[in-house]
Amino acid sequence: MALDNKMAGKDLNDDDIRDKIPLVAKDHPEHKSRFSVGGVEFGGPLIPVMAGPNTVENEEMIVKTAKSIKASGAHFLRGGAFKPLTFPYRSEKYYETREQGLEWLQVAKKETGLPIVTEVMDVAKIDVVAKNSDMLQIGTRNMQNYVLLTEVGKTGMPVMLKRGYGSSLRDWLMAAEYIALEHDRLGQQQQIVLCERGVVSNHTHRAGSRFLLDLQVVPAAQDVTHLPVMTDPSHATFWQPWVRPMMLASIGAGADGLMLEVHPNPPEAAVDPLQCSSLEQFDEMMKAMRPVAAAIGRTLDA
Ligand code: PEP
Ligand code: MN
Repeated sequence: MALDNKMAGKDLNDDDIRDKIPLVAKDHPEHKSRFSVGGVEFGGPLIPVMAGPNTVENEEMIVKTAKSIKASGAHFLRGGAFKPLTFPYRSEKYYETREQGLEWLQVAKKETGLPIVTEVMDVAKIDVVAKNSDMLQIGTRNMQNYVLLTEVGKTGMPVMLKRGYGSSLRDWLMAAEYIALEHDRLGQQQQIVLCERGVVSNHTHRAGSRFLLDLQVVPAAQDVTHLPVMTDPSHATFWQPWVRPMMLASIGAGADGLMLEVHPNPPEAAVDPLQCSSLEQFDEMMKAMRPVAAAIGRTLDA
């Protein structure tokens, strides 16, 4: 049925697609962006897996994690040096390692060759984060920080844009357009990956969980945009036992990548201990994903 173009709503209509997101919208049904970041191809048959701790806690743990996930077949190392912690107090339990954490990520990269994706929250820190990463992550809380989106776009670096946990697909794609516009002004290909990381909902099935993984947004986004669309079942479920099934379901739903939180000692994780998988669990999860990917013509092996 035709969409009513006169109605400005929370969902996308044809006028929106033509006038407000011309760069991230598909030109034709098979249109899909394909690009390589640190030797890892997005938008092709490969399903890149980004794994690592919530927080880069110290050099030893990030190097240990990197070596282990690399051996299991992960493609990217993730880890927050600058963290959007929900409250302002920092302690021995809740901390950010900031510039020091970025240096430790670089040590882990040198040891393993894994490219780095890490969050940038502040325009003033874009330079230092960009120098120490291969892909800039914009977190859920900053999805509509338009100044940040524009300045990150101006670096020309590959970007992973997480979906705001209360944002529509319309808002998400329009936020991506801010970055795409800067890549276009630089005369380069758009190198943007979208990441669904859970949305707020009335019911979350468990008193301690906060979000629901919106798997339906994967095909919904892919209908409209040529950008790769990945999921983060760790942040979405907030509960490790549910990560594996939602990870497998994401592949079935057609996700173009996965972000998974992995920690060498989950009960001791500085942030989000309930959602991270151990190194051993991650190894098993990689093994479980391979046949599911193969069943739909995708692969985990570069
Ligand atoms: C993260 O990936 O570490 C993170 C903070 O995620 P989100 O922005 O989705 O909460
Ligand atoms: Mn996290």
